[in-house]
Amino acid sequence: MKTCERCGNELPVHNGRHRPRKYCTDCRPSHQRKPLPSGPKVREIHPGASSSISLEASSRVALAAADVTDTPQGVLVMTIAKSIDGGGHSGASLAALSREYSRALADAIAASTKAADIGDGVEWGVG
Ligand SMILES: [Zn+2]
Repeated sequence: MKTCERCGNELPVHNGRHRPRKYCTDCRPSHQRKPLPSGPKVREIHPGASSSISLEASSRVALAAADVTDTPQGVLVMTIAKSIDGGGHSGASLAALSREYSRALADAIAASTKAADIGDGVEWGVG
């Protein structure tokens, strides 16, 4: 049985292709390979969502301002906005989605009671 040249501890039985060790694992820990960095973590970014302001985010703001977020029109706007942000559309379908979005947003704003209130207020001011 070989012993550690440093502390005299018995060395583990050498087996394998490595050089027989002269020191025990306490004195000379086996080289631990540092785990290779797995590289920069690539976050999956959908085109359109990479910009700081997504259509979804700006739509949410617009719907909230008109207080129509929870209306069917508002939900439709958000659904289309998410779809557009999600990307992967051909030019034609993106154009169609954009038209649907504009229409839905206009409908949502039109359904806003706040907008109606504001309109009344303006009429009041004018009248
Ligand atoms: Zn030792």
